[in-house]
Amino acid sequence: MPDRETVHLAELHGDGISPELSASVHEVANALPIAVQFHPVDLTLEARRKSPTACYDTAVAAIRDRRIALKYPTVTERESPNKILRDRCRFSVIHRPVASLPGVKTRHDGKVDLHIIRIAVGGTYEDAGRRIGDDVAVSIRVIERRPSREAALYAFELARRLGCGVVSSSKHTIQRATDGLFEEIVLDVARAFPGVAHQVELFDALLYKLLLKPEAYRVIVTPNEYGDFLSDMACGMVGSIGLGASASYSFDEQGRVDLAMFDPAGGTAPDIAGKGVCNPSASLLAFAMLLTHAGCRGLGQMVDDAVRQTIAAGETTRDLGGTKSTKDFTAAVCRRLTPRS
Ligand code: ATP
Repeated sequence: MPDRETVHLAELHGDGISPELSASVHEVANALPIAVQFHPVDLTLEARRKSPTACYDTAVAAIRDRRIALKYPTVTERESPNKILRDRCRFSVIHRPVASLPGVKTRHDGKVDLHIIRIAVGGTYEDAGRRIGDDVAVSIRVIERRPSREAALYAFELARRLGCGVVSSSKHTIQRATDGLFEEIVLDVARAFPGVAHQVELFDALLYKLLLKPEAYRVIVTPNEYGDFLSDMACGMVGSIGLGASASYSFDEQGRVDLAMFDPAGGTAPDIAGKGVCNPSASLLAFAMLLTHAGCRGLGQMVDDAVRQTIAAGETTRDLGGTKSTKDFTAAVCRRLTPRS
């Protein structure tokens, strides 16, 4: 954790538009009334090709040293850097906020303000399965107590902070062993939070109700694949899959966050890399989440507000129909960095 004046973080540089995203984050960081010390790690494809083991060792050591990391998009060639970091840092929970962005065109007119908390491991994603003869295939689905508990704890603590309830969602009436265990663990955690309402929704019903009445939902906790599906659907509702940020967490034996890594949704955008036109919003929102996690809640909120206000004012990059360069958009965000009264 940082001392009072300086936030230390590992900064994992990637490919494509990564240098431009980093420049934007640095500019915003420089405009804040605290010092932010970036500890860079080279995770570019070139560095990974040259020396993959050393590259990941350095990245993991930097994340462990600083306990907080900001990661930019990386190309997946042979290995997936995200999967390697997730395995080696034992990230078990993913937090994906998805909120309507005034100024961004959508086909859905509801107001979305969701926090999707998802178990980052297991579900149907650990086992590619196998064929049995020509006409049958099977795979194993995994739900584990520890990450389920960590996701539930994280969701309830977040809901307590936000003053809202938690909805847990799965198909526990069908997947009675696996999703049944997940819901049992969530219920057990819920008992420790008597002030936070808890509701169980079947996942198919949740999708339907969420589309009809998104305002009724705020914090949702789910097993791995459901959270994945839900995040993309929610992004579709707010009109962009590329504007969001996400956080990955690992936990200590007491269930407290140990390591935290923040990254923008979206890829390396090789088609526009180096042209100075990419949209740094998701990286800035990831940085805002990082500041909040580092104990600078007011500053995190300030950066988040500034990004949203800039987009709402129509001062956007080309992908959102505007004419701003990455630099000009960043400058417009910096001009709006004023504390909430
Ligand atoms: P990757 O293999 O890293 O996923 P990709 O090109 O397949 O790269 P994205 O990086 O997600 O996938 O890009 C999809 C499209 O969205 C591209 O046209 C890209 O220019 C655009 N895009 C992605 N990120 C941004 C951004 N931050 N700002 C502007 N446009 C973006």
